[in-house]
Amino acid sequence: MEILHVSAECFPMAKAGGLADVVGALPKYQIAIGHIAKVVMPMYRTSFLYNNEWEVVHKGAIQFGESQLEFTVIKEKSDFLKFNLFCIDIHGLLDRQKIYGYDDDNERFLAFQLSVIEWVSKWKHQPDVVHVHDYHAGLIPFFMRYCYDYRHLNTIKTVLTIHNAQYQGWMNWSFKKYFPVYDSWKAGLLEWNNQINPLACAIKCADKVNTVSPTYMKELMNTANGLESLFEFEKGKCSGIINGIDNSVWNPKTDPLIHKQFDQKNIVVGKRKNKQKLCEAFGFDESLPLIVFIGRLVGEKAADLLPEAISNAFEKSNKKFNCLILGNGEKTIEKKLSAIHQQWFGYYHSQIEYNEKLSHQMYAGADFLLMPSRVEPCGLNQLYAMKYGTIPIVRRTGGLNDTVVDIGDNGYGICFNNATVEDIVFSIIRAIKFYENADMVDNIRKKMIKINTSWEKSAQDYIDLYHSIYR
Ligand code: ADP
Repeated sequence: MEILHVSAECFPMAKAGGLADVVGALPKYQIAIGHIAKVVMPMYRTSFLYNNEWEVVHKGAIQFGESQLEFTVIKEKSDFLKFNLFCIDIHGLLDRQKIYGYDDDNERFLAFQLSVIEWVSKWKHQPDVVHVHDYHAGLIPFFMRYCYDYRHLNTIKTVLTIHNAQYQGWMNWSFKKYFPVYDSWKAGLLEWNNQINPLACAIKCADKVNTVSPTYMKELMNTANGLESLFEFEKGKCSGIINGIDNSVWNPKTDPLIHKQFDQKNIVVGKRKNKQKLCEAFGFDESLPLIVFIGRLVGEKAADLLPEAISNAFEKSNKKFNCLILGNGEKTIEKKLSAIHQQWFGYYHSQIEYNEKLSHQMYAGADFLLMPSRVEPCGLNQLYAMKYGTIPIVRRTGGLNDTVVDIGDNGYGICFNNATVEDIVFSIIRAIKFYENADMVDNIRKKMIKINTSWEKSAQDYIDLYHSIYR
C-alpha cells in the first residue's frame, strides 16, 4: 500500500509533543513491513531544515480567498529518516520558527492543507490512503471528497488519527471564503455548534477514525470537548491503536544523548551511572529516590497540581526524595514551579524549557516518572520511562491505563485513580517506600526493559485498518 501521512509535526523536523514522535516513527515501521509511506508537513524554519539537504519536487499555487498563494514542495534528499519527508513552503505563512501559537494559525494550516491537496492532485498516480493527523489536517477528507476541483481524488481512502481531541481548530464561517468551491449540500459536514470544526469534519468524513489508545476512545464518548455525541454517533468506524516506541531513537543501548548506555544485562549499573550524573548536575543526593516529570505544563497533564503535591510530599516524607521537573507551557504554572525552588533547595529543581537531550537523560537517570494527567490520549513518556528502567507513577486514564500495570497486580508501575493532590502525594509516598527494597526495584527494572512496546505490532494494526476500508 502507499500511504501519505499529513501532519503539522514530525520528528526530527519539528516537535511539540507526541504527535511528532508518532509521525516520525510510524512510516518507518510501515516501510519495514513492505509498504510505501511518506510524510508531508509544513516547512517551518527549524534547525533540521537548515542542517539537511533538500530538493524542490513541485511548485504550484492555490487560490486563497482573493489571493493566489504560491507554494513549493521540497523533499529531504538523504535517506537517513528511512522515509520520504516532504515539506510545503508558503511564503509569509509557513516560513516561521514555531509550529503553533500565531494569531493566524487557522489561515496557516488551511493554506497548508489546500497546498497538500493541490500537490497530490498533480501526482501521476494516487496513494491508497491519505492518513491525516489531528485537526491541522482535518479538512482534507472533506476537500478531497466534495470539492469540484478535486473530484478525481474522491476515491482515495482517508484515515484520521486523533492524537488529542481537545484541540479542534474551530473557525467562524468567514473562513469559508478560503475554501475551494464545494458541494453546498454537504456544508453540514463542516459544522459543529455553528462553527466550522475541522476535527469534527474529519470524524464525519474520514473512512476510518482512530485514537492512540483504546481507553481514550472510550473516554471520548463521555468527555470530548463538545464532540461526545459525535463520537457516539460515529463509533462504528472508530477504534483505538496504541502508539509504539521508535527503537532507533529511544533505546538505552544505543542512545547517544545519555551518559552511560545500557541494556537488560547491565541495567543496574547503567541506571546508577546515569542517575549519578543527573544528581551531580542538579545538586541532589543520589541515595534518595529521584522522581521526575517531563511534559507540557498544562491542565491536561495536571501540571497545575504539581507545586502543591510536591511540597506536601516533601513535608509528609520529611524530604525523602528528589524531584526534577522539565517542561514549559502555561506561565502561571511555570512561575509556581519556580517559586518553590528556595523552599526545597537541594531536593527540587524545575527546568522550564523544552530540552530533548535532558529529557533522554532524565528517562535514563530517574527512578520514577510521574504522570498525573487528567487527559492522556496515549502518553509516550511512560513507554520511554519503562524502556529506560524508570518506574512510571501514573493516573489510570487513556493510554496510561492501557500500558501501565500496578506493582500490586504483579505489574511494574504505581497507578492511582484521581488527578488530585491527595492521590499524587499518596503515590509518591508509595514510591518512596517501594524504593527501600532495592532488589524489588532492580527486578522491576529488568522486567520493564524487556517489554516490547515497539511500533512493529501497531504499524501492522494500522495496515489492517487501511485494509478494512477496502473490504
Ligand atoms: P503530548 O503529545 O500530549 O505532549 P506525549 O506523552 O504523547 O504527550 O508526548 C510527549 C513527548 O514530548 C515525549 O517525547 C516527551 O519526552 C516530549 N516532551 C514534552 N515536553 C518536553 C520538554 N519540555 N522537553 C523535552 N521533551 C519534552
